[in-house]
Amino acid sequence: SGSTPAIEARGLAAGYGRVPVLRDINLAVRPGEVVALLGPNGAGKTTLLRTLAGYRRPTSGEVRLFGEPCNRVPVHRRCRQGVSFMGEERHIFPGLTVRQSLRLVRGGPESIELFPALARRSRHRAALLSGGEQQMLALALALARAPRLLLIDELSLGLAPLVRERLLDTVRATADRGVAVLVVEQNARAVLSRADRAYVMRRGEIVDEGTASRWLADLDGLAARYLS
Ligand code: ATP
Repeated sequence: SGSTPAIEARGLAAGYGRVPVLRDINLAVRPGEVVALLGPNGAGKTTLLRTLAGYRRPTSGEVRLFGEPCNRVPVHRRCRQGVSFMGEERHIFPGLTVRQSLRLVRGGPESIELFPALARRSRHRAALLSGGEQQMLALALALARAPRLLLIDELSLGLAPLVRERLLDTVRATADRGVAVLVVEQNARAVLSRADRAYVMRRGEIVDEGTASRWLADLDGLAARYLS
């Protein structure tokens, strides 16, 4: 597609203090795309998402948000531009009920319709929900803010397969409405069956990329070469 990427990295490097982690990262995610970020533990997926979200400054290279250079744009301004980051720690309000949580966000009460299982828990406090229900709530809250770019780390870590499928279907439907999605998900088959493309990271670099259908046709090869 020829549209301007929602997010783009060019020659991006980042790290922790003097410890370099990311090297020469080049990627782009366009509106309407689900792009999977694959790679073994420690490959740098979380560091990359946090750098794209603005929590870490690049040490070199450039990030562009909706076509504009944004290396120095802080997290809260990226949020206002439509960036939503779902980290491994679930961003929910433990002391509030599901209904109260969603009322904090304009568009929140409607977004519960995405997850009937969550709607049945609307009077329960978030802290008492299952992990899967908490992640549905986190996604419902993120979507209520009508993001243009969704960055998701470990979408379904520790969650039941059925919940994972439900979350991924919602992610796909969100992209189909024009949102750009970059998602880290351990289950390659599950995410690739909803994604358009994937990047594979290893040791801080993107070592391969391709269409989801190409990776799906050779999942064993993908696992053997990169994910073990
Ligand atoms: P995982 O799936 O295990 O979260 P990942 O692909 O997300 O892996 P990162 O968490 O980004 O990888 O870690 C990449 C590298 O950065 C690792 O070598 C890790 O040890 C290092 N690292 C991560 N966080 C820090 C930190 N706060 N300080 C120093 N080094 C860090």
